[in-house]
Amino acid sequence: MEDLCRLRYLRKFLKSRFFPFKNFVILSLTYIILINQLYSNPILLANLEYSNPNLKSLREDVKDNLKASRSRNSQHKLTRLEFYTYKVQKSDNFFTIMARTGMNLDTLSSVNNLASPHDLSTGQKMLIPNMRGIFSQKENQNESEENKNEIAKDFKIPAEKLIFDPNRSQWFIPGGELIGKEKMFFYGFAFSKPLLEGRLSSGFGKRNDPFTNKLTFHGGVDLAAPKGTAVYASADGKVDFQGKQGGYGNLIILKHELGYESRYGHLSKILVKKGNKIKKGDKIGEVGSTGRSTGNHLHFEVRRFSKRERPVFRNHR
Ligand SMILES: [Zn+2]
Repeated sequence: MEDLCRLRYLRKFLKSRFFPFKNFVILSLTYIILINQLYSNPILLANLEYSNPNLKSLREDVKDNLKASRSRNSQHKLTRLEFYTYKVQKSDNFFTIMARTGMNLDTLSSVNNLASPHDLSTGQKMLIPNMRGIFSQKENQNESEENKNEIAKDFKIPAEKLIFDPNRSQWFIPGGELIGKEKMFFYGFAFSKPLLEGRLSSGFGKRNDPFTNKLTFHGGVDLAAPKGTAVYASADGKVDFQGKQGGYGNLIILKHELGYESRYGHLSKILVKKGNKIKKGDKIGEVGSTGRSTGNHLHFEVRRFSKRERPVFRNHR
């Protein structure tokens, strides 16, 4: 009985007070769902055939937006920033995807946080925006006008062209390009090999762990060399850490420009101190087998903004 009363009361309440707003509520909800769909569900590019209508409209958008981003005329507006997804196929490489989608190197590497053109694997999902440009790498970005104006000034483009991506909390700079140094890192010209000679005994990525024999992620490359082999700084930088660190054993961490760092693990000898400024090619330590290691080798690792990246060297591949 009581329940029935409650139900009747609810019905009455809905009819009396809520009812006038019902349409408004339904409309708002639909709007929210639609907007969410648009932002969270990128458009799928099933293939990169020129006959694919999705690819066609992507390429058209890219072309129009390129003109708009270069135009100083405020009437010439960019469309909304949208993303397409594409699953990398075995026959693809970075440059074919770039050409087919009308992108440039800067856009693809920035949007997908790629370390190098080799940093693609079959089945990997790539994001392809409907305009060329890059995400700002400035720290602590937010949607404020102040932040927007700062970044616009850095890139020398009108602030109204900048687009804030709430999912990433980053500003997108339409038509923006990587600075020369970033391209150097991307092409693998920034890092040199840390050993003069050394056999690649384990690559970057998934592998069978030598201790547990389980499939694990290897965040660097292992270069086998005799104990005492000289280890050289891979790029100019500053010593951020030197000493023992868990599985790394004796470790050196060098900080470089643009959020990059390099790590040298399992060393038998460390020849530098925290705070030392280091030039590319300086001897910083010697190969060993300290920490979680099965033999003398150097574990070399590159990180950018704390994320491990596939190391690429100029004389590599
Ligand atoms: Zn390793």
